Amino acid sequence: MAKTKDIKCYFCGKLIEKFSEQVEKKIPMATKAGVRNYRRQFHMNCLPKYVEGLEDKSLLSEENSEWDLVYQYYRGDILGLPDSAPLDQHTIKRLLGLRLGQYYPSGNNTRILKRGYDFKTILITLKVVKSKVIPYMATANFADAKHKTDSIMRFVTGEINDVYKRIEMQKKSNEKLEKDETKAQFDYLSKLKEKKEMEQKQSSINQNVHALFGGGKL
Ligand SMILES: [Zn+2]
Repeated sequence: MAKTKDIKCYFCGKLIEKFSEQVEKKIPMATKAGVRNYRRQFHMNCLPKYVEGLEDKSLLSEENSEWDLVYQYYRGDILGLPDSAPLDQHTIKRLLGLRLGQYYPSGNNTRILKRGYDFKTILITLKVVKSKVIPYMATANFADAKHKTDSIMRFVTGEINDVYKRIEMQKKSNEKLEKDETKAQFDYLSKLKEKKEMEQKQSSINQNVHALFGGGKL
């Protein structure tokens, strides 16, 4: 079986192990020099999911508004900056890097891809570490803005896996709850059906007994 040379899928970020699973697609990306096509490798099964996501504009705009919440929270709640102050490029790249599970995002696409952490997880992590970050910032000395950002990001990266796990556990227990509820409903309905069948059976037995005794009064 032909093996690929450590090629990772652009969609899921996992290794494409077999050559037969590998597909290539040109992806248009916005660069400073205009839109350019980049060749990207996918698992055969991942490409349709990626394309579907691209076409699903609502998913994209939802992600964009979630990114906006992350941006606003970091600027206002963590750094205490006014709305008019934009975040510096280094901070933006570090935050977007989290979205892909990297230091800096590689390439320009940081949406829809199924790897790294979603913006909701990033936002919750920021909220979790805020109470540690604020007093730390008040006492620490930073060489420059980059140093400050990297110091804050150390809190975030130290916590984000734990937050991610807790969110996943919550999701699973919600799913289980839903399943249990559906099952309980189903059980109730099938019990009801059983009961009706029993009653019908019973009445037909009664009729049979009735007939057996010659239709006379029992
Ligand atoms: Zn994949």
